[in-house]
Formats: sequence, structure tokens, C-alpha cells
Amino acid sequence: MQPNIALVALPVPLDREFDYQIPDYLSPSIGGRVLVLFGRQKLVGIVTELKNHSDVPVDKIKPIIEVIDEKSLWPESLYNLLLWCSRFYQYPLGDTFSNALPGALRKGKEAKLSASIEWRLTTQGREQLAIGFGRAVKQAKVMHMLERGSLVQHDITTQDVSTSVLNNLAQKGWIESVVTQPHPIKWGSDIEAVADKPQLNTEQAIAIASVNNNHGYHCYLLEGITGSGKTEVYLNLIKPVLEQGKQALVLVPEIGLTPQTISRFRNRFNVPIMVIHSGLNETERVTAWLSAYESRAGIVIGTRSALFTPFDALGIIIVDEEHDASYKQQDSLRYHARDVAIMRANIENIPIVLGSATPALETLNNALTGKYHHLTLSVRAGNALPTTNKLLDVRGLFLESGLSAPLIAEMRKHLELGNQVLLFLNRRGFSPALMCHECGWIAECKRCDAYYTYHHYTREVRCHHCGSQQPVIHQCQSCQSSHLLTVGVGTEQLECQLSELFPDYKSIRIDRDSTRKKGSLEDALDAIRNGEYQILIGTQMLAKGHHFPNVTLVGLLDVDGSLYSSDFRASERLAQLFIQVSGRAGRASKPGEVVLQTHHPEHRLLKTLLVDGYHHFAKEALIERKNAHLPPFTFLTLVRAEANRSDWVEEFLRQVRHILEAHHFFNVGCQILGPTPAPLAKKAGKYRWHLLVQAQKRSIMQQLLRDTKEAIASLPMAKRVRWGLDIEPHDIS
Ligand code: ADP
Ligand code: ZN
Ligand code: ZN
Repeated sequence: MQPNIALVALPVPLDREFDYQIPDYLSPSIGGRVLVLFGRQKLVGIVTELKNHSDVPVDKIKPIIEVIDEKSLWPESLYNLLLWCSRFYQYPLGDTFSNALPGALRKGKEAKLSASIEWRLTTQGREQLAIGFGRAVKQAKVMHMLERGSLVQHDITTQDVSTSVLNNLAQKGWIESVVTQPHPIKWGSDIEAVADKPQLNTEQAIAIASVNNNHGYHCYLLEGITGSGKTEVYLNLIKPVLEQGKQALVLVPEIGLTPQTISRFRNRFNVPIMVIHSGLNETERVTAWLSAYESRAGIVIGTRSALFTPFDALGIIIVDEEHDASYKQQDSLRYHARDVAIMRANIENIPIVLGSATPALETLNNALTGKYHHLTLSVRAGNALPTTNKLLDVRGLFLESGLSAPLIAEMRKHLELGNQVLLFLNRRGFSPALMCHECGWIAECKRCDAYYTYHHYTREVRCHHCGSQQPVIHQCQSCQSSHLLTVGVGTEQLECQLSELFPDYKSIRIDRDSTRKKGSLEDALDAIRNGEYQILIGTQMLAKGHHFPNVTLVGLLDVDGSLYSSDFRASERLAQLFIQVSGRAGRASKPGEVVLQTHHPEHRLLKTLLVDGYHHFAKEALIERKNAHLPPFTFLTLVRAEANRSDWVEEFLRQVRHILEAHHFFNVGCQILGPTPAPLAKKAGKYRWHLLVQAQKRSIMQQLLRDTKEAIASLPMAKRVRWGLDIEPHDIS
């Protein structure tokens, strides 16, 4: 019998699917999109089941208006992964689907690649290649890209080449374009450009052989110090995958996706490479998505959401810097891209490699207990030397905008030798607070439970939590005194101070404020590499992924806060950050030095980290976690709730607590903390509270939540608050 009812998942905040009639002239498929009426709204939904019965009376069931896709939007394995995601993160299926789709498809656009423009060299262009291009660097870049074969326009422009360069070259008659209909591309065995391929060292060779000797799903941790050649290992692992006509997915952190990263892959392989990141527009995004599915891309490199790209034949997944916080989505579907990637590899039965110099404690624990294969790279590749690390006791020392005299002296030494110095301070703005000198009043954001940050260049105070801003305050709002002081040091202040301390050297500040304009970060990084600046000041942004061969001194100014934070992950994050920042130094043949200013030189964590390295630190931290019954030895879920009134939120979470405690599983090693006000108790006018649930086993946590979710959702209070579950939360703020 033809099914006449379709179950449809819709992007509505209701945790269930809905029945629709199938008119006999339509034939929807599971995993395909349909257009339906929901109330008075027309919505795009995904069919999840075809059947012949419904519990809803027939005359109440609306018909499907339109079938958008004749077949499923996803390969079966990826569709199953999305079902798993919805279950594991306890997130409505309709919303999970829409989270995983490019915006254009979410809106119902046709899932079909349009014709594209393909560029190739002309005979005249080939002749010009022999002559060269003088100072026209961008033109030369395009010409060399096309030397190996024609490329679609998208592939060229994602490499930081503007269309005007292409048009320019076309006018000269060196390149020409043809309009091509989309077609799968077959890449053969001749895919590798071997020109500057380094000879592998023993550890690299062992790592590669270990992966290649296995078949099917295996998870590997590639723990390799900064500069030890992890990327080289990835490239060698991807090669045989491509040679078999299969594809590779490479996930990188938000800030790690630089043109250098991309060009390393492009320079090595003669296959189409797609790049997916948050900066793409809708058309680019859907093009990349469909290209991978239709086998027009050999490699997809992307940030978190690229995880949900469909492939024709995925052969390997790489997660670079697997410990990075940007892999965890902090709103809506709060998934962890690394964890979901492991599940994806499992479902697709392919290998996955997690690379890091500073593996997350969860990952390391899985490697140490044998759940993952543990591969190590312990020496810096090439001729780079390890750095020397030093704790600088600043107790009692006068600090000039956060800088101690010994650090200033050290900086001078390195600068006079013609080297670069990097200062790390993870706080943008001029100062994190503005205080009245007469009465102690501090300027506070009205909408948040937080102080305003003072920004000197824009003469503003800004809230870093809700983004609200206003002109700088000149008068105390409590006692009317005009004597206001800045409290604490941010990157802007440090920059001002440095121009006074070192007038002969140029400094540059890299943070979210200074790099707001598109392309400005790239320009700044180029200028640094060209030696235009001697002193680099930066936040997290400067800590990751970039290579600065002339930096020989790295100073960390103010990280003590992390040593005594209430967040149990703070020390892990500090250790990872320290290693990352120090990895910026001494990349070339110049030895690097790292100085960490602290008021706690005796702190055990710091000593272990600096003397014995990250791996020892991590092992010690794991023991601490075990003793404290914290992840990865237990499993957490954070119930987050917020509303306009604090008492509503508290009451709601109190009721949630009762429901959870009444469940028969609760006595099997579960615990609840709260309700407690969130560390940021008010944000953008909403009061925020937390309830933290802990279980000894993941399966128990899952069962507990699954069984109680409906009861929680149907609490009358649930309508007054916005609430959500954060499964295995990372940031408890
Ligand atoms: P990681 O990803 O671990 O930070 P990279 O793969 O970026 O390290 O390697 C650091 C540098 O060392 C790169 O310039 C790379 O080309 C070079 N390199 C990698 N492996 C080797 C090797 N076996 N011999 C020489 N140089 C190498
Ligand atoms: Zn605010
Ligand atoms: Zn005052």
C-alpha cells in the first residue's frame, strides 16, 4: 500500500514531529524536504517517516503543499548521525536538521549546483608563465594556480583572490573562462605535487603507518608538540584516501583557518578543495556543501559546522587542535564538533585523527585507557629548537600597565638583537573597569551583572557581555566626583604604555577590536611576518596557529586568575593556552624564551607545566579530576534557564530538580547542584540560573534526561522561562 501519511520534523520549538497527508500526486522521501502549513505559517520540514496511519483524526491532518526534494538531502550515514545528535543532545529533531543545513536549503532553495564559471590558461598565458609577472603578485598567484589545470571560480576566490584580478588577466588574454555544468570530478592517482615535500622523521612515519595498517573505524590521538609536523602527517594520511577516489574532511578551530593553512593543502594536492567557514555567504556555503556531496571536492576544510557536510565517499576525518573551545557550539544545538565527528567516523566506518599539542583531558584519558590509539610526535620538525620557560615572580614589584621591570629589561635585550617580542594579554579594551576615586563606585552595565570595559580609542564604555555601549562616563553617578580611575589593564593600555617605553620600536595590537574589518587580520599578520612591527600585543587571537619565525620572546602578563577560578576547566585551559602561546616563539633556528609573570610562583600546576611539560601536567590534572568526581570520570548536564524575573527562573529549576530526583534512576549515582545563579547572573536584562546534574555513567544521564524531558517541558513555569539542556557543557558561565 502507498503510504498516505508523512511524519515531518519542523523547525519549531516543540520536541515532536507532525503528521501530514500525502496527496496522491506527490511522493516525498525520508530525509527530503517538504513545504507544509503549520498554523498559518508555511514551513520547510524534513520527512522522517512514511506510514499509513495516524493518531490524529483524518480531517485534522493537513496535506503536504509541495515536495522540494525527491530524494533524501543527506546520505544515509549522515542522516543517521543527525538522528543520533538530536537524541544525544536532547535537541528537537526539526531544529537539529535545520542547524545542520546551509541557510539557503533551510529556506527551501533547490539543492542543485548551478552552472559555474571555470577558468583556464590560454596559450598566450602559458608563454607568459615562462616570462614571469614582475611585481604583480596576485596575478602570478592565479597564473600558477591554473598552471596545473582549470579551476572553477569559487576555488580561486576562496584563496583571497578578487574577481577583478581574474577579469584583469582575462583582458590581457592570459586566461579565459568557460561556463561548465556541474559534473563529478574524478581525481586519479597523480594528485600530489611533490616539489617541497619534507622527508618524514621516524615518529611521523610510525604515526602514518599505524593509521594505514588499520581498516574501518579507529580513533587516533596524534599528540605532537607545536611544530612537530602534525600537518605533514595529515597530508600523508589524506594522500592514499584521495588516491582511492575518496574524500577527506579536515576540521580546524575558528581562528585556525588561515590562508596559510589552506594553501598548504592546495600546494600539496591537485584536487578541488572546498573551504567552509562562518564568513561564507549563503550561495558559497551551499555550493561547497553540494560540491562535496556530488564529489566535486576532494578535501573539505572547515570550522565546526563543516562537520555536517555530506560527502559522496568520505574516507578520513581529521580534527586539528581537537582541544579547541570553538568546537563546542555555545547556543541552540550545543554540540561538540569533535565528539560528533568521532560518532560520524564510527557510523561511516572510517578512521578519525585528533591532533593537538595539548589534548583535552577527555581525549587524553581515552588515549591512556586504550579507547583511542595514541600516537606521539615529540621533537620539533626541521631544525627548530625547544623554548626555555621561566616563571617570573612579580610579587611586590611595581607593574607599569602590567609589565614588570625584569620583563621590560628582557624585552629590550631581544629587541636590540633585532628580534620580535610577543606579549599576551587576554583582555581587550583599555581597562576592564572604571572606578570613582572618591567613593569606589564602578560603572556597570545596566542590562548585565557586569562592569563596563573602558575603550580609549573610541572614547566609550562597552559591555563585553551584551555589546551595549555609551560615551565614556566623566562623572561618578553616585557622588558626582569627576575623579574617575581606570582599574586593571587591557590591550589598548598596554599598547599606549609600550609606545612610551619603547619609542624606537613599532608595536601592533591584535584583538577583536583591532581586526574588525575584513582582511585586516591577514594584513596585520603579513606586516608582522615582514618585520614591520617589533612588538606584538595580542589576545587569544594571536595565540593560535600563526607562525612568527622572528619572535624570540613571549611574555604572558596576567593569567593568575585562571589558577583560582571556580570553573574546573580553567587550569586545563590555562595550560593549553600557555603551550600555544609559547609555541609562537623560536620557530626558525632562533631559540625562543617564554616568560610568565605570576604572583604564585609556587603553584604546583605552573611548576609541573613549565618544568615537565603539558603531558605531565595533564596526567596530574586527570588524577585531580578523578578524585573530585569530575569529567571525564563523571558526566555533566547543565540545565540553563533565564527570564525577566529571577524568582521565576529559580522556581522553575527547583521544580526541574524535583522531577529529576523522583526518577528511579536518580539513586544510581546521580547528583544535583543548584539551582544557583549563573556566574554571570544577569545578561542583557535576563536573569540566569543553573542546575548542574551529574551522573556516574553517560547511559544513566541519557536515560534520566530522556525520561524526564517531557515532564519538564510541560511544567507551567516552563512557559515563563527560556530553558535548555547543555549536555557535557564546557563553559559554565
Ligand atoms: P604542527 O602542525 O605540528 O605545528 P607542521 O606540520 O606545521 O607542525 O610542521 C612545522 C614545520 O616543520 C613546517 O614548516 C613543516 O613544513 C616542517 N616539517 C614538517 N615535517 C618535517 C620533516 N619531516 N622534515 C622537515 N621539516 C618538516
Ligand atoms: Zn551588558
Ligand atoms: Zn563617587
